[in-house]
Amino acid sequence: MYLKSIEIAGFKSFGKKAILDFTTPITGVVGPNGSGKSNVAEAFRFVLGEQSIKSLRGKRAEDLIFNGGKDSPRANRASVKLVFNNAERILSIDFDEVAIERVVNRDSSSEYLINGSPVRLKDIIELLAGAHIGASGHQIISQGEADKILNASIRDRREMIEDALSLKVFQYKKEESIRKLEKTEENTKQVESLRREIAPHIRFLKKQVEKIEKAAEMRTELVSRYHEYFRREEEYLAAEKKSIMAEKSPLAAEREKLERELAQAKLVLAASASKDEKTGEVMAVEGKLKDARAGKDALSRAIGRIEGEISSLVRLVKKQQEASANALQKTVELSSVETMAREIDLEASASAHADTGALKGIIESIRKIVRNFIEKHKAAEAKQELSDLEHEIKRLEEEKKAHEANMADAARAETGLAEEYAFLKSEIEKEKDSNRDAEKTMFRIVAEENDIRGKLSAIDARESRLRHDEEELRREQQEGSIIAGIQALHFKDFWPTHAGGTPLSVDEIANEPRAMQEDRRRAIEKIKIRLEDAGVAGGDDVMKEYKETSERDLFLEKELADLAKSSEALKTLIAELDEKLATEFKTGVAKINGEFQKFFAAMFGGGTASLAVVKEKKRRRSDTELPAGDDSEELAEAEEEGEEGLEIEVSLPRKKIRGLMMLSGGERALTSIALLFAISAVNPPPFIILDETDAALDEANSKKYGDMIAALSEYSQLILITHNRETMSRAGVIYGITMGADGVSRLLSIQFEEAVQVAK
Ligand code: ATP
Repeated sequence: MYLKSIEIAGFKSFGKKAILDFTTPITGVVGPNGSGKSNVAEAFRFVLGEQSIKSLRGKRAEDLIFNGGKDSPRANRASVKLVFNNAERILSIDFDEVAIERVVNRDSSSEYLINGSPVRLKDIIELLAGAHIGASGHQIISQGEADKILNASIRDRREMIEDALSLKVFQYKKEESIRKLEKTEENTKQVESLRREIAPHIRFLKKQVEKIEKAAEMRTELVSRYHEYFRREEEYLAAEKKSIMAEKSPLAAEREKLERELAQAKLVLAASASKDEKTGEVMAVEGKLKDARAGKDALSRAIGRIEGEISSLVRLVKKQQEASANALQKTVELSSVETMAREIDLEASASAHADTGALKGIIESIRKIVRNFIEKHKAAEAKQELSDLEHEIKRLEEEKKAHEANMADAARAETGLAEEYAFLKSEIEKEKDSNRDAEKTMFRIVAEENDIRGKLSAIDARESRLRHDEEELRREQQEGSIIAGIQALHFKDFWPTHAGGTPLSVDEIANEPRAMQEDRRRAIEKIKIRLEDAGVAGGDDVMKEYKETSERDLFLEKELADLAKSSEALKTLIAELDEKLATEFKTGVAKINGEFQKFFAAMFGGGTASLAVVKEKKRRRSDTELPAGDDSEELAEAEEEGEEGLEIEVSLPRKKIRGLMMLSGGERALTSIALLFAISAVNPPPFIILDETDAALDEANSKKYGDMIAALSEYSQLILITHNRETMSRAGVIYGITMGADGVSRLLSIQFEEAVQVAK
């Protein structure tokens, strides 16, 4: 026996705790109408997880809680505890005794407990289903439900049978699998839509990443090209610098030497400036000499003229001296006479007012004057002339002497000047020679200097090109480090090699035609342009995002694969469950039919009864919608085959009655009981509760019913709520339920005899 007891507290009319122990295979529950017997059956349904309040004869959860009565307060909660003996582990839980409890509170909340631990309803249902106890209650036949199975639709009937055959577990599994499958498909759709959503982004990122990778490749190429270019350029520039220095320094030295020589030559030539001075001097001397000679000539000419004058005067003196010998014919110059006349006039002018003395004086004076005049002209005249001439000659001779002295001076001066002139002249000649040498040297120096200057300016050009190249290299290095990264400058370890791998010599690098470096530079420029065109900034972020997004996509892909796998597994499981359900159902129905036939024949003393699997007929249109006059054939055509169901086919002995519709109330009850007992016999549940299933039976049938109960109790524990004396007589223990004025159901364990009384 599996069912140990039920404890009812606060549930419906059980305002006080009541415990029913099930110690015998058949337990009877008796009591007057309305005492609370059916509440016991409902307590079973309740604790087994019934969710329909209606099927517990209530509207709200509250209706299940003791509502109070006269003198007894209403309860706050209803609880029912069902205790199983689990020594045989009919419930797959590792306890010898299992108490399943359900509590409902006034706030409608429900609690489920297994051995005192809160659990979910699902856990209870699963646990019970494993033991072939279902909440749907095929083993709990409520009052008035005896022919429920007969009234049910073929589909509901099929469900009842499935439940009774413990196929519900598989059904649950199947439904759960279908739910899971639906969920899986839903998830699949979601994941697919997620993938679809991110796909364009991934494509975009992929393109970006490809660009970035391309750019990275280009950058790597650029770096290696830079290494070669920079290394070669530095080597070339160093070599060029060295070569320029090597060429320049001797040239510079040479130039310095030439400059020194030039300075010397210039000194010489500067000295020639004095040549001009000397020339000036010569000319001055020459001028002076000329003047001196002219003076000398003038003097000479003056001396000649004086000498001529003197000789002519000498001749004149001689002549005079000859004339003086016969001097009576003297001629007096008129002017002398006039002078004498003026002197007389002057003397005579005073005679007007003069007395005789005075006149005598005046006459004397005039006489004196005239005597003087005669004297003068008579004797002295010749003498005077001679003396004048001699005086003149003397003067001239003196003049000549002076001239001659001057002449001597002039001659001396001329000689001095002529000497000076000659000296200067020779000096100038001497200088002319050294000047010519200096000039020659200068010409040579200038020519050589020109040559050197040409060479040096070529070197200067090279130097300025070198500087430009150096600056250009620095600029390119800076630019390179920006575009290709700092590693572009890590070329110190790089050394160019021949195709075979042997390193190039410095000379080979330096002497390479510049056009080749130019080609390299152009190639670098091209890559730079392509790199700039690629324009991929923030590469790391994009790479990270691409990585994350594609990882997510991969994850989603994997998830899809997992979902597809589990979907496949679920489909397989569903198919297997379908298969299992189909075969189990088929064999189950066959077994039930065997028992059904037996019970039916026992009840009715013959006849046949069976369950037949039929397809549910679905009508496309309702009958009323069919046009009048439609024949059955057309009606059949209007029907569709639906799901499989179970039809009950009976034929009573000695009666030409077929079909359930034709049975009397009692016959219906017997058929129903026969079927219920057949089902229970095939797959016996641990317990069966029958609430007045026997109500419609007459005495003879009650007896048969009692026999069948006895047979049934071999497999299942029975709890029979009854007013039937025969049924009561089969019970080992009978509980009487009474209800006092307080509205509380009370329990008493009673003997059969009492039971009959109590039941009334
Ligand atoms: P019968 O023999 O006529 O079928 P019964 O013994 O099966 O009767 P039940 O139907 O179990 O009687 O009990 C019905 C009684 O339970 C009624 O008197 C009803 O008032 C009472 N009852 C139902 N719900 C509650 C509740 N929540 N609180 C108090 N009493 C309740």
